[in-house]
Amino acid sequence: KPDFTPMQPIRKSKKLDNVCYDIRGPVLARAKQMEEDGQKIIKLNIGNLAAFGFDAPEEIQQDMIRNLPNSAGYSDSKGIFAARKAIMHYTQEKKIKGVTLEDIYVGNGVSELIVMAMNALLDAGDEVLVPAPDYPLWTAAVSLSGGTPIHYLCDEANDWLPDLDDMRAKITPNTKAIVIINPNNPTGALYPDATLQAIVAMAREHGLIVCADEVYDKVLYDDAVHTSIASLSEDVLTLTFNGLSKNYRSCGYRAGWLVVSGDKRRATDYIEGLNMLASMRLCANVPGQWAIQTALGGYQSIDDLVAEGGRMRRQRDLAHELISAIPGVSCVKPKATLYMFPRLDPAVYPITDDQEFISELLQEEKVLLVQGTGFNWPHPDHFRLVFLPHEDDLREAIGRVARFLEGYRRR
Ligand code: PLP
Repeated sequence: KPDFTPMQPIRKSKKLDNVCYDIRGPVLARAKQMEEDGQKIIKLNIGNLAAFGFDAPEEIQQDMIRNLPNSAGYSDSKGIFAARKAIMHYTQEKKIKGVTLEDIYVGNGVSELIVMAMNALLDAGDEVLVPAPDYPLWTAAVSLSGGTPIHYLCDEANDWLPDLDDMRAKITPNTKAIVIINPNNPTGALYPDATLQAIVAMAREHGLIVCADEVYDKVLYDDAVHTSIASLSEDVLTLTFNGLSKNYRSCGYRAGWLVVSGDKRRATDYIEGLNMLASMRLCANVPGQWAIQTALGGYQSIDDLVAEGGRMRRQRDLAHELISAIPGVSCVKPKATLYMFPRLDPAVYPITDDQEFISELLQEEKVLLVQGTGFNWPHPDHFRLVFLPHEDDLREAIGRVARFLEGYRRR
């Protein structure tokens, strides 16, 4: 008879102690359970375009299908030639200088490359400046890599732009890199050139790497223009992250890229580390790589959806109008992305635990949002709203949020 005497519990590694990714955290698990129990939930929690009828462009799908027979083998670790060539041309369009095929890494989405870039860079004690609020993968990747995320504030009173004084004040001899997410998830901010230039100057002065997450660089409203921070210097080592997930509505294809630019001679050792990690994971999924050339070479991006009268633009306007009309709620209007990050006035809504708050909203009204602290925002007074559902669903969902908040005010 086998011996089933109880043994020590199997625990997760200590390196996960400080790693947290709340967008897919416990409240989502609760929502899934409710759905399995047959309840219908309106989801304003995840930027998954395909789930809301924003289909991947037909031409991309067809080219992937066509190339499937060529996709059964491993590719070069950095990616197939056609994809990297198209990305190289994209960097030229974005006015990033001096990028060769060797400076481009294709990955299984930007996510894999963020973790790879941090793993290759950080030792214990190294610090990385990450925005608050942030897309929390950045904080998690820094922690997982053994580094320490140090959050600089973005200023809601100044259109959520980085607080440059706070950023500067947080640089120490241990700081290795500054992360910017531009256009920004979760705030919808878009950074003007003056802000980017100031960040480049700071990085130059202190010898820091700039990591620029630009995965929403085509999701722009009101004729806004996006500048890649890498185009503003030829010396500061800059890692630019981008991919098909948002601009080309195909996050399931897992096609992203990392471009290294600036003074690469200073970074030969780091680049060796990146190459090693890219090799260790053999290559990114090859069918997804075939989508890149078609996407970047054609006219399938999100332009029509974000233009005046386009579905995404209408939904942004509606969501912003409805959310701002709720007493005690204010919201900077997003200039880009799929998100807004409204504020709940603490004098009206004295929330102490925003995860609990979001969980109650889910329970009572069957609307799913993500709490602001899930984006490393330091106070329990914000939430993120994804405005991907159709206008009717948005009206219904925000109406329920308003009803819940009215009840909260009466408590
Ligand atoms: N960076 C930001 C700012 C994001 O919002 C997301 C996804 O929501 C990602 C990266 C991940 O993108 P990918 O699908 O390319 O892994």
